[in-house]
Amino acid sequence: MLTSKEIIAKTEKYGTNNYHPKEVVIVSGRGAVVKNPEGKEYFDMLSAYSALNFGHCHPELVRAAKEQLDKLTLTSRAFHNEVLCDFCEKLSALTGKEKILPMNSGAEAVETALKTARRWGNYVKGVPNGRQEIIVCANNFHGRTITIVSMSTDDSAKRGFGPYTPGFRTIPYGDADALEKAITPDTVAFLVEPIQGEAGIIVPPAGYLKKVREICSRHNILMIADEVQTGFARTGKMFACMHENVVPDIYVMGKALGGGILPVSAIAADADILNVFEPGSHGSTFGGNPFACAVGLKAMEILVRDNYPAMAEEKGNYFITKLRQIKNPEIVEIRGKGLLIGVEFSCSAAGYVKKLIENGVLAKETHEKTIRFAPPVIISYEQMDQALAIITDSLTK
Ligand SMILES: *Cc1c(COP(=O)(O)O)cnc(C)c1O
Repeated sequence: MLTSKEIIAKTEKYGTNNYHPKEVVIVSGRGAVVKNPEGKEYFDMLSAYSALNFGHCHPELVRAAKEQLDKLTLTSRAFHNEVLCDFCEKLSALTGKEKILPMNSGAEAVETALKTARRWGNYVKGVPNGRQEIIVCANNFHGRTITIVSMSTDDSAKRGFGPYTPGFRTIPYGDADALEKAITPDTVAFLVEPIQGEAGIIVPPAGYLKKVREICSRHNILMIADEVQTGFARTGKMFACMHENVVPDIYVMGKALGGGILPVSAIAADADILNVFEPGSHGSTFGGNPFACAVGLKAMEILVRDNYPAMAEEKGNYFITKLRQIKNPEIVEIRGKGLLIGVEFSCSAAGYVKKLIENGVLAKETHEKTIRFAPPVIISYEQMDQALAIITDSLTK
């Protein structure tokens, strides 16, 4: 077996330089713990940006995947398969929405929501085609396609990729008045993360989502919640919008929906919205494939059966309370909901991340100054205590 150093060198030689991973190679994982080629163990406190809410290689998910692998993996949407119907039924029940449109990556689900909103704006609201406008927030993260980076305010995600897709208007995050002011007769939707993940775990002011919901309804524009990172229990509710009892018109979902095994994404909305699609108007070769649906279906069953939202809420409260006991004048804020927690420093967090990793906790800074702690929801209290001891040791100053 290659050593960590050799694996990193080979990856850098042949792989494109579009990522700068931490110098850790992971060869195996179980639950909240992963191992490198040299046998060193780490607690995974990033969970692949919330795709690993179930932890690594959850035995039931692996079994469901293997069973489906031996039976049927792909039909394309040219034919029916027996798993897609159950997947859609289950996701419809979880979201309370009548219809589901399955895709693969989170970015594809966001694109699907944008297409839905534009068509709905034209067909239903009557905005002339080509004039539809969608409002988005500064510092958003919705993925990496040309259209999605067109509505980004992050220079590194955007630079050199023009010409950009028009039709977006950017307002500050967390500011409901700014939304109201930005709406024009051509506005068809507002796309928002209930908590901004990549921006540094930015929790909006209490009542924000409720106000957004009210404004969207009053102006007849669609509220689209990007729950790709916050959905499926991460923040202590099945969906983060539920913290304010808000129901968006469109849920955008991904990451944890694939059980940490494969990319599975979808949007959910009622029929009066998703009926803007007719055969041929949108699709994906792999979207809704039986392999993905079998894993996604099992993931949703486990989420509900084991009450992951309550687990994330309780463990999150425990975790954040312990983090707040850390003494370090360079920590300016600790914030989050459930098991999506950000620790912001007054200085670069890179040195602290290095220490954490050396001591056996995998974490990563986002936007330089904030460390995100988002362990798998299944992490045990004993493991949390062990990880917290390392974190306290590494972050105390
Ligand atoms: C990760 C993420 C996406 C993009 O998902 P991919 O599967 O990487 O395309 C979109 N929105 C949010 C909020 C995300 O965190």
